[in-house]
Parts: sequence; structure tokens; C-alpha cells
Amino acid sequence: MAKIKKKVKTIKIDADKCNGCRGCEIICSAFHANPQYSSINPARSRIQVITDRLNNKWLPVFAGEYAPAECMGRDKYIIDGKEYEECDFCRASCPSRDLFKEPDSGLPLKCDMCEELPEGEKPMCVQICLSDVLVYEEREEEVDEEAKVEDVEIGLGSMVTKYGLQKVLDTVARMSQKD
Ligand code: SF4
Ligand code: SF4
Repeated sequence: MAKIKKKVKTIKIDADKCNGCRGCEIICSAFHANPQYSSINPARSRIQVITDRLNNKWLPVFAGEYAPAECMGRDKYIIDGKEYEECDFCRASCPSRDLFKEPDSGLPLKCDMCEELPEGEKPMCVQICLSDVLVYEEREEEVDEEAKVEDVEIGLGSMVTKYGLQKVLDTVARMSQKD
């Protein structure tokens, strides 16, 4: 298989520094609004700060891959004496919770590293976080060339899981007749 160079973008999270201001959620939802910056709704953010004020817990988590089914087994973490809920560290948009779903359509949300930004600019949540919780890094890796599953395919997959294939096909057919 042919090798290609791939840019790997990461955001390191120093959760101990997070004060729960939720600026990252606000800017992410505004940046991805359509038109851009036309609305703010943290429920649409692709980063969510898992919050438990009584126990002094603020845990920023980025939306990752869509999962069509919930996990059979769960993990519980205790770190520095703080107990985290079973799904706290999970990045998936999955049927067992409301996190990382577009509130109106229920479609899964996924962090795209603010791909619309010009080359060299740091993602919006990193720029806005004044507490240095989020640290952006880039590196190059050589990887096997493989077919990329497009976001639209992931979105369609979740619609089929939710409404069934026939309903999705009927809706697409009806929409194409309107054009
Ligand atoms: S902007 Fe930074 S400090 Fe504020 S909630 Fe997000 S990660 Fe935490
Ligand atoms: S990197 Fe961009 S898309 Fe991802 S959570 Fe931060 S602001 Fe949202």
C-alpha cells in the first residue's frame, strides 16, 4: 500500500488548569454556526466541559467518532481522589447520552480542528482559553493511504440507525423532487 504524509493535529488538555468558564464551548458553537458567528449555543459545541462543581471537577472533552451502539462494559476512573462518571472521558456521540449531538437534528457532532481556519492559525477553543488548558501541537507522520470516510457518510449512517434506511431513502427522494 502506498505511503502518504499526514499532518497529525493534537490538542493537549491540562484539565487541572480548567476553571469551567466554558469560553471554549461558546466560541466553538459560534464559529460553526451557519452563518458563522450568527448564534451561540454551547449544546452545539464540539468541545464539552464535563462539570461537577461540588467535587471541583472540570474536564474538557472533544467530540470524536460517532458510535451507533452504546458500550457493553464501562470504566470508572478515580484520579487524585476524584471519581469520574463512566462516560466522562468518552469522546463518542452515542445513543446512551445527549452529548455531542446537534440539538435540532440529533446528528452527531465531531471536532474538525476548525479546518476552515487559515493554515497556521490555532483552533478557536485553543485561542480563547486564557488558562492554558488547551495546548495545540502539529506533527507529520507517514501512513498507509486509505479511503477516507466522509463526514456526510457518518451523518447518513446515524440517520439510518435512528429512522431506518427506508425512511431516509424516502426523504431523500422527496427532497430531490423539490429541486
Ligand atoms: S476555555 Fe479553558 S478554562 Fe474555560 S472551560 Fe474551556 S478549557 Fe476550561
Ligand atoms: S478545535 Fe475547533 S472544532 Fe474542535 S472543539 Fe475546538 S473550536 Fe471546536
